[in-house]
Amino acid sequence: MITEPKTIFKQDCEVAFDEEHWQKINYNTGCYEQKFAKGKANYRNLDLEKQRAYTLRNKSMLNLEKLLVDFETHFTENGGKVLWARNADDALTMIFDLICKERATAITRSNSSVLDEIELNGFLGRKNIHVVETEIGRFVLHTAKQKPYHPLVPSIHLSKEENNAILTENFKLKPDSSVKQMVNFVRHEVAIESKDAPICITGANFLLSDSGGVVLTENEGNILKSTTMAKVHIVVAGIAKVIPNLDDLGVLLPLLSLHSTGQMAFCNSITFGPAQQGNGPEQMYVILLDNNRSELLSHEKQRKVMSCIHCGACVSVCPVYKNIGGYSYGTKYIGPMGTVMTPLMEGMEDYNHLNSACSLCGKCVEVCPVKIPLDDLIIENRHLALTEKTGNAKYDSLLRAMIWHCKSRKKMDSPLFLKKLQLKRLLVPLWGNNRPLPEFAPKSFSQLWRERNL
Ligand code: SF4
Repeated sequence: MITEPKTIFKQDCEVAFDEEHWQKINYNTGCYEQKFAKGKANYRNLDLEKQRAYTLRNKSMLNLEKLLVDFETHFTENGGKVLWARNADDALTMIFDLICKERATAITRSNSSVLDEIELNGFLGRKNIHVVETEIGRFVLHTAKQKPYHPLVPSIHLSKEENNAILTENFKLKPDSSVKQMVNFVRHEVAIESKDAPICITGANFLLSDSGGVVLTENEGNILKSTTMAKVHIVVAGIAKVIPNLDDLGVLLPLLSLHSTGQMAFCNSITFGPAQQGNGPEQMYVILLDNNRSELLSHEKQRKVMSCIHCGACVSVCPVYKNIGGYSYGTKYIGPMGTVMTPLMEGMEDYNHLNSACSLCGKCVEVCPVKIPLDDLIIENRHLALTEKTGNAKYDSLLRAMIWHCKSRKKMDSPLFLKKLQLKRLLVPLWGNNRPLPEFAPKSFSQLWRERNL
């Protein structure tokens, strides 16, 4: 039986009433907010820099076609190869062809939203190719067969004890290991498993059009290590990742670092193609992925979301995310940015319920380093859902029923218990059992009018 995404969403959102979950997410996102508050002191005028980033990103979006072609020319001159993928299937076929060419049975990969977007792990699993997650949090999640909970901090929902339990259950690691012992253990395990992987697949934080550079930023050094060790490096990048040059990078990269983790990233690298000599991959491919991005660019207003640099800050501060967590969305991109992008990229019909997963508090807009007006775009999506007549039919009938009740003096004067019962019957199927229902005034307007002899 196929269940609609909106039904699954409503069921999964019940996690919002799990006190322990709430505390974990709020503690971990709280740590991010503290670090961010400290880190932003490195900027004399953060808002001005964000304004610059906004202008640069918008300029790149308007010039995307030329930037992409120039990137291809320069990356090819450097010895690499650019492949163009219309959708996820194209990208996966290209990756699999390269794996077959190398007769590889294992690959290493980085933490990357675009690799999750094309569902790389599931695809390779079905082809019996072993995937080695090189990022520590993702390694633990992969072991537990869980998906990432946050784009930048994939295991944000796991406590130290839960991490320890997963590793102890699956490997020879003693219970109650310290964080340092767990980190060392995972690094050792990744190093062993990576030996059989001649191919490394990563995303890209930015692509430099004028030089064919691929920019990668990280905190653990795992990407640099695995790409250096691999024979073949495959990069999958959405077409919106391209920027003109190092000057733009100088503005965008520090902003990305600060907004991702609240601090400057420890390890940033730019790779221009296969290694010319010494260590590094013999072959390098960049797969430029469209996957409905061109369609999104055709929306005059919502195309602004394409400027996103995937820092994840809007997710970390979003009160909806902090309550319903990362799995309830049931989408590849979560939080405010996913709420805007998913209905447009995957279909308003199936995902219009996400338009309501926002309190319009504006926290995401406040934090966004490239000043994307996410709240306006969510309102615009709501508008689009109405004009496309893909709104929530149940909600519409509820509103009609409420209007019908409120317009009738007789119904508004009915006994309190009856009004409560009617409201319960109308709202609980839509709101679930846990949300408190609005309270009626103990006396109706007519009653008060009579009592006061008005
Ligand atoms: S929308 Fe802005 S805050 Fe959210 S991930 Fe993208 S760049 Fe970061």
